[in-house]
Amino acid sequence: MSLLGIVIKCKAAVAWEPNKPLVIEEIEVAPPQANEVRIKIVATGVCHTDLYHLFEGMHKDGFPAVLGHEGAGIVESVGPGVIEFQPGDKVIPLFIYQCRECRFCKSPKTNQCEKGWAADRYDVMASAESRFTCKGKKILQFMGTSTFSEYTVVNQMAVAKIDPTAPLDKVCLLGCGVCTGYGAAVNTAKVEPGSTCAVFGLGAVGLAAVMGCKAAGAKKIIAVDINPEKFEKAKVFGATDFLNPKDHSKPISQVLSKMTNGGVDFSLECVGNVGVMRSALESCVKGWGVSVLVGWTDLYDVATRPIQLIAGRTWKGSLFGGFKSKDGVPQMVKAYLDKKVKLDEFVTHNMTLAQVNDAIELMKHGECIRTVLSVSPQ
Ligand code: NAD
Ligand code: ZN
Repeated sequence: MSLLGIVIKCKAAVAWEPNKPLVIEEIEVAPPQANEVRIKIVATGVCHTDLYHLFEGMHKDGFPAVLGHEGAGIVESVGPGVIEFQPGDKVIPLFIYQCRECRFCKSPKTNQCEKGWAADRYDVMASAESRFTCKGKKILQFMGTSTFSEYTVVNQMAVAKIDPTAPLDKVCLLGCGVCTGYGAAVNTAKVEPGSTCAVFGLGAVGLAAVMGCKAAGAKKIIAVDINPEKFEKAKVFGATDFLNPKDHSKPISQVLSKMTNGGVDFSLECVGNVGVMRSALESCVKGWGVSVLVGWTDLYDVATRPIQLIAGRTWKGSLFGGFKSKDGVPQMVKAYLDKKVKLDEFVTHNMTLAQVNDAIELMKHGECIRTVLSVSPQ
């Protein structure tokens, strides 16, 4: 039976309030309105940004919400004015828009867009509008996507159509973590052949950054994590050296500086900790070192001494790896299908949506790289 134009009742994991387990509920998903696409989510990864919202940011206006922003699925129906997508298309919902018309979209310098939830609600991490209700209450769509739901509705400016042969339980990781880390190295840091890099934090984002450094031709890639169990995995993606800050009494920036004759050419912070952000910057060589903030936090100020920057270091940030979302994601799917980027190696656990709280616990305790949840049957 076609569900066109009708409200869909389906299962979703609802975050009713901060710091509490998600609850599997039956929610109502409204039909897509003008320029919107309703998507059956087939698979989703669990990213640390979901945990950030639930346990760290805890913005009171960001609840209740359906979390999840690293998903892939199939178009179920489209609203008026949508010609780019048809039911049955394989797609990845995007947490940043690409409207192609605003001054940011028109500039090759950035992947920011003036449209979408992110334009003015970074702190809340959800759009004020939503197509979800549950028990008579509006449920927010986290980062405009909400992939911990069997169905979701997204504006067509935030949907990427992908190769129909792509396995959704792998390419979902391109909806956030892998594009973020890989692009931070390749697009934002612009890692150069023969360079020395340090990547702080070896979750999926950091490991993807390691993969990006390698793809860009880095000679030495030093992987830094306080969990030594991550080091074996980092080797798979191209890390050449490992450092556990807990093994050293000196600040890690000094250890790195000594190891690399004055500091690394590029460093990437993939933890979301302002202290680590400072260490990553100060691990860079004076003169030309570039440090990129990738880890997500908006709770504290970052600090360093001005001389660090006066001496020629550059401090940058990267959102979604600098990829223009609608253009970049299909290209990364193709790169995976052409075996130019790895995805399978990030997946350490497969579970169902009903097990989402177990997946969150695994990440909280550093026991996974990515758990992929199967959400709806294909
Ligand atoms: P994760 O939890 O899987 O990985 C984080 C890693 O950091 C873990 O291996 C942990 O052991 C390590 N770590 C913790 N403290 C450390 C320290 N002091 N020094 C070194 N390593 C340390 O998370 P993830 O899903 O890979 O995400 C990483 C970060 O990237 C998060 O902050 C997430 O919110 C952020 N993120 C940013 C964007 C963006 O667009 N900028 C997108 C996605 C995720
Ligand atoms: Zn994410």
